[in-house]
Amino acid sequence: MKVGVFGANGRIGRLLVEILSQHQECKLSAVFVRNKIDVALPSGCLVTNDYQEFIKACDVIIDFSLPEATRQLLSHLLVSPLPLVCGTTGLQSEVLSLMEELAKKTPILYATNMSKGVAILNAILKKVAINFKESDIEICEIHHHNKKDAPSGTALTLAETCAKSRNLDLSKVRVSGRDGNIGARTKDEIGVISLRGGDVVGRHTVGFYADGEYLEFTHNATSRLTFAKGAVDASIWLVKQKNNLYHIQDMMQF
Ligand code: NAD
Repeated sequence: MKVGVFGANGRIGRLLVEILSQHQECKLSAVFVRNKIDVALPSGCLVTNDYQEFIKACDVIIDFSLPEATRQLLSHLLVSPLPLVCGTTGLQSEVLSLMEELAKKTPILYATNMSKGVAILNAILKKVAINFKESDIEICEIHHHNKKDAPSGTALTLAETCAKSRNLDLSKVRVSGRDGNIGARTKDEIGVISLRGGDVVGRHTVGFYADGEYLEFTHNATSRLTFAKGAVDASIWLVKQKNNLYHIQDMMQF
């Protein structure tokens, strides 16, 4: 299977190049780069900044870039549809709408976290948020100091899962900062707090705090390879699916 990497110069992109260069089932057929690429590529791999040339060289594309770059890629894919695994976070609703439109023409998998552990955590949260309804939900994430978006896409996905399970609109109940004399916590609010520092790959803690007891679930990503491997596995799975917008959980059995 011919796989193209969009964002190949980035932290995750480089790992994708590494994995795909020695994969049994996949071949790195093309990388899209705006300028030069300083990553070793297998022979025959196309290096281009031409969208249509890039798309034509691939059976599936894996995108780990930035929101504006993903928007551009999606607009070109709408002209020439091709399966897409997208891991870029911080996408605005307009970009997500483009993705939904494209998913009518080709299978797409979008996951703000490609790890199995977070997919499992998400599934557990649904049950806890419903059954432990008296608890206050607070989410805390920490990432490396270079991360650009906050809260992390994963934290927002986890918060969305909790909110939906309690029939709440996350945009109305999310609190992502507390400072000064703000008064007591309201019942429905969901705190989503971000820390940044060092080289932390990603840690998310979702807490359910009630009177007399609390539950905390923590996922630690100890290597970025987890995300890159997850995305490659997702691309192998995705090309066999019907046109639709999928999530990483759809690959698993819950
Ligand atoms: P990075 O900044 O190291 O890499 C970004 C890449 O995008 C670079 O190669 C850059 O050249 C490219 N790029 C930027 N603008 C572009 C444009 N206009 N056109 C084409 N390419 C462009 O970032 P990273 O740490 O590799 O993360 C990339 C994205 O993936 C971020 O949104 C991050 O939050 C997300 N991420 C997702 C997961 C997941 O599991 N879904 C895990 C880690 C990171």
